[in-house]
Amino acid sequence: MRYEEPLFRPPSEAYSLIIQATIGCSHNKCTFCGMYRGKRFRIRDIDEIKEDILLSKEYYGEVRRIFLADGNALAMPTDQLLEILDFAYAIYPELERVSAYAGPLDLLKKGDDEIRELRKRGLKLLYLGVETGDSELLKKIRKGVSAEEMVEAGRKAIRNGIQLSVTILIGLGGKEGSFRHAKETAKVINEMEPHYTAALTLILIPGTPLHKEYERGLFKPLDKLETLQELRWLIEDIDCRTIFRSNHASNYLPIKGNLPEDKEKILKIIDYSMRNPEVLRPEFLRGL
Ligand code: SF4
Repeated sequence: MRYEEPLFRPPSEAYSLIIQATIGCSHNKCTFCGMYRGKRFRIRDIDEIKEDILLSKEYYGEVRRIFLADGNALAMPTDQLLEILDFAYAIYPELERVSAYAGPLDLLKKGDDEIRELRKRGLKLLYLGVETGDSELLKKIRKGVSAEEMVEAGRKAIRNGIQLSVTILIGLGGKEGSFRHAKETAKVINEMEPHYTAALTLILIPGTPLHKEYERGLFKPLDKLETLQELRWLIEDIDCRTIFRSNHASNYLPIKGNLPEDKEKILKIIDYSMRNPEVLRPEFLRGL
């Protein structure tokens, strides 16, 4: 396969065929993110993408899941995305789903009719980086949208039939903003009602603006126990139906449960882990 590295995918796409529809991230401004800093954003030529799908057929034969990379394949014009979807389902008749990362701005720019059509033609799951529900913090990290716009972006995917998986970033507000970040994020999750909510824990990446703030003493990261306290503040306020996971390698404590039913069970696990920090993932095993 021809890939322009580095390549990222959500943990749940570990067994999916990855096809790069775009290279890099069209936003590429979030102060904590180093994923695509070395890549200039571009939409790949549609014939190249089709060639990759054909090449993959020779390797894999059968494919049930495709993940469209890079940062936000949804930035691609809708007619081109539809062409790729049609082609992928024609080459792989057994294909069950196509998924992609979506930036909030990409979702806001597309019309409901476009998203509905994408769903109809097989784009079944989108991963949206919410990061925080705190509007001030969203501005600070340069996410490009307010909390209200973030909710609208997520709702737009859901009301048009797309399964939505959102990621939130524990520790993003630092020590000072921890409580507000947790509480405002819970509000956004409750309003959005995503099918899946995944928590990641902030890892400071050298070279990013947030890391520079940290070096100048302007950003004070949470310690292990503070990340658990923040997670607790968040979970205790989530009242909507969502499948919650913190199984990403960046987290100190892997949790999985259905909210709101499993809330008490999850809170007990967090409390136990705060009293017994030796059960937490050691620093050297954390990763992105
Ligand atoms: S967090 Fe997502 S939207 Fe922001 S720069 Fe990174 S890849 Fe792009």
